[in-house]
Amino acid sequence: MRPGPLRLPLLLAAGCALLPWLPGLPPYWITLADYIGVAAIVAVGLVVLTGVGGMTSFGQASFLGFGAYATAILSARYGVSPWLALPVSLAVSAAAALLIGAVTLRLSGHYLALGTLAWGVALYYTFANLDFFGRNDGIAGIAPLHVGGLALVDPRWSFTVIWLGVGLAVLATRNLLDSRAGRAIRALRGGALAAASFGVDTPRARMLAFVYAAVLAAFAGWLYAHLQRSVNPTPFGINASIEYLLMAVVGGAAHIGGALLGAALVTVFNDLLQDWLPRLLGHQGNYETIVFGAVLVLVLQASPQGLWPHLARLWRWRAPVRRVVDAAAPPLPRRALPARGTPILEVAGLRKNFGGLVAVGGLDFAVAAGEIVGLIGPNGAGKSTTFNLLTGVAAASGGSVRFQGRPLAGLPARAVAALGVARSFQHVRLVAGMSVIENVAIGAHLRGHAGAFSALLRTDRAEETLLFAEAARQLARVGLAEAADRPADSLALGQQRIVEIARALCLDPVLLLLDEPAAGLRHHEKQALAALLTRLREEGVAILLVEHDMEFVMTLADRLVVMDFGTKLAEGPPEAVRRDPAVIEAYLGSVA
Ligand code: ADP
Ligand code: MG
Repeated sequence: MRPGPLRLPLLLAAGCALLPWLPGLPPYWITLADYIGVAAIVAVGLVVLTGVGGMTSFGQASFLGFGAYATAILSARYGVSPWLALPVSLAVSAAAALLIGAVTLRLSGHYLALGTLAWGVALYYTFANLDFFGRNDGIAGIAPLHVGGLALVDPRWSFTVIWLGVGLAVLATRNLLDSRAGRAIRALRGGALAAASFGVDTPRARMLAFVYAAVLAAFAGWLYAHLQRSVNPTPFGINASIEYLLMAVVGGAAHIGGALLGAALVTVFNDLLQDWLPRLLGHQGNYETIVFGAVLVLVLQASPQGLWPHLARLWRWRAPVRRVVDAAAPPLPRRALPARGTPILEVAGLRKNFGGLVAVGGLDFAVAAGEIVGLIGPNGAGKSTTFNLLTGVAAASGGSVRFQGRPLAGLPARAVAALGVARSFQHVRLVAGMSVIENVAIGAHLRGHAGAFSALLRTDRAEETLLFAEAARQLARVGLAEAADRPADSLALGQQRIVEIARALCLDPVLLLLDEPAAGLRHHEKQALAALLTRLREEGVAILLVEHDMEFVMTLADRLVVMDFGTKLAEGPPEAVRRDPAVIEAYLGSVA
């Protein structure tokens, strides 16, 4: 998703806040809109968690429950002011999310969804069965919200407060997604491996999304409790969780506006069904769930992205969102590169077995600063696997890798990245819907520090300016300045590889690993790439280059390492390797 087109949802929320004061609006509509607003806040949290972060939660209503029960207990039993109870409610829910997340977020895909389902069921019965929570009767006598001496009991006031809350949730979520921490969350779906290779702490980003969604749900729960003035377990059960998920998905889980749309549609539809189904089908049965299921399947068949993208297209005649980059921003501090010729990478006896298959079988080579080493060999020789071993993406079965004298064994990808190792991927790994420049900015992740709180409060703007100025500079350097605001997946595959190089350069690398960067490039693009790599070599960057274009790698590399079946077949200057009979036999011969 792009954080840009937000003005409409914000205006909608703000406009809604004023609506009930129009004369003649039926109270019934006001109540319905209250429920829409509360649900929209939960659904906006699910946009971050599910639509953007790719984690499905069937337990979101429990977090609503934490918020609602916390404020209910504080208000009804201890007479605490709702405004004082608010931070406590949010903190209770955040703490619960941290705990639940710690044991659940290690699961992925369907297992994670099942995990949240289990939590949802367990927490519902906890609310319903413990005396502390008032069992099935719940807790009554919750104070209304008040401002000064004025109790906001008029339904129109609850409405205004709720929709201001929606506006706040929308704004906070936009701020979060458009930030360093937000890019980490946005990279989780599809780009987690690449993000980790640029220093993103992906488990932490998952946790952030989970806790953020839980806090928004708790905020909705707080509003709900003071709106209803009483709570009971029913609205915090599995059915409710499924409805929230339905809202996000039907509206369009990847878009903040989709959450608002989905909340409105599902709430109104639910209301209509409760009215009409008994008339049509009699009173004995809960047919809404069946109808909901059918509607969900239909919507997903017709529009897998939900309904929001269709609506958003209506005002797309306006210019696309452009990120303003401050070209005058000072450059980020750079690390001192080692003197040319200093050994950077020393690989000894490196091995990797996949079951019985020896992908890398005892490999030795070295790369020095200011040197381009070509790693070549036929398909399946083990080159990409070697890259994964060097960057901490995969664990070696044996042997050692030293980077600037330091052993890399056991370090995760993000720690290797922090040392100054940047890479590109043979199979391009960019975050598809995200713009080119935002993808490139992920490369500079470790050169910024702002966290989620500064994102929410927008105190990260100065740092963001620096990071994006750096991203723009690297994009210009690889010749893709024009493409900055295009979605990354709209570029040709060859250009996406170049975007990956710009992202790698944003890390300010000591060692650059490029896996078939010239594949899919036209002749003049290859020449430009060769010129860029030559310049980097002059600066003192160490480069390890996997490439199938022999002319490209022969003219560029100082040295070649030839692999076949996981072992080193030959090593030396390109001319010598070219004449090596073993190489001609195993590799070049077969190509010729
Ligand atoms: P190259 O990049 O030189 O073409 P790779 O490193 O991709 O070769 O693959 C080397 C060998 O290891 C191939 O036989 C490949 O099928 C195998 N291989 C690579 N990754 C995996 C994996 N994750 N699981 C099992 N086998 C793998
Ligand atoms: Mg490969």
